[in-house]
Amino acid sequence: MARRDPKHRDITRSEQLARRALRFALDPAVSRETAADRLIHLADGQAPTLELARAQILRAPWSGPTATAALGALQLSLRHLRGDRTLRLVILGPPGAGKGTQAPWLARHLGVPHISTGDLLREQATADTELGARIQATIESGRLVPDDLVLRTLETRLAEPDAMQRGYLLDGFPRTVEQARTVATFIAPATVDVVIALAVGPETVARRLALRGRADDTRSAVRTRLERYDCETVPALDWYEEAGLLLQVDGDRPPDRVREDLCRRIDGLGLSPCH
Ligand code: AMP
Repeated sequence: MARRDPKHRDITRSEQLARRALRFALDPAVSRETAADRLIHLADGQAPTLELARAQILRAPWSGPTATAALGALQLSLRHLRGDRTLRLVILGPPGAGKGTQAPWLARHLGVPHISTGDLLREQATADTELGARIQATIESGRLVPDDLVLRTLETRLAEPDAMQRGYLLDGFPRTVEQARTVATFIAPATVDVVIALAVGPETVARRLALRGRADDTRSAVRTRLERYDCETVPALDWYEEAGLLLQVDGDRPPDRVREDLCRRIDGLGLSPCH
C-alpha cells in the first residue's frame, strides 16, 4: 500500500516541509535564521528530508522572491545541521559563457578557492614529459582529457588545506554524467550546495571567443568543445536539475549584469559569506 511505503512517507513529509518553508518566507515576522531552526525541528533533524524539500521547490515551475527566500532558509538549515562552514559550488557553461570572468570573482566574493580543471590541466601540459605533451594535444583539439587523469589531478587539489577548510568553486568539472556520478561517490551529491549553469547563445560565444584568442580557440577546437558540451555536459546539467541543485543564469548579458544577478541569487540561497 502506497501510504505505508516509507519512500512515499518521506516525499509527503518533504512536501509539507517545502510548504512550511514557503509560508515562513511569506511571513515578515519570521527571519531566515528562525525559519531555518524551525525547519530543522520540523524535519526531525533529518538532512535528507530537508534536501528533498529543497529539490521540490527548485523543481517547481515557478521562481521569485518567495521561492528564493524559502530555498535560502532550507539551505541555511542544512548548513546548520552539518555544522559545516564550507561551501561547495560548481560552475559550468559552454566556451565563451563567461566562466573565466565570473568564476574568480564569485570565488573571491564567497571566500573559497577557485579550482578550474582547465587551469590545472593547462599547468600539467607545460611539463616537458610525454604525458604533458599528450594533455597539450588533447586540450588543443577540444576533446576531453581522460577521466582517470582529470580525477587524479582534482583529488590532489581538493586535498589541499584551503579546499578542505573552506570548500571550493569548481570550474569546468564535472563535464559528463560519468564525472558527476564520480563526484557523487567521492564527494557525495548532498555536499554540493549548488551547480551554476551559465547559459549563452551562439552569437555571444562567437563574439567572445573572437576577442579571447586562447590557443584552443581555433575554429575546429571550438566546434568540438561545443559539441562535447551539448552531448556530454548538458546531460550532466539535467542530472543536477533532477537532484534539485541547478541554478540557471543568463550569461547573455554584459559581465557586470551577470555578476550582479549571480550575487543576488547566490546570496538569496543563503550562500553569501555572511551566513
Ligand atoms: P576549460 O578551461 O574549462 O575550457 O578547459 C579547457 C580544456 O581542458 C577542455 O577543452 C578539456 O580538454 C580539458 N578539461 C577541462 N576540464 C575537464 C574535465 N572535467 N574533463 C575532461 N577534460 C577537461
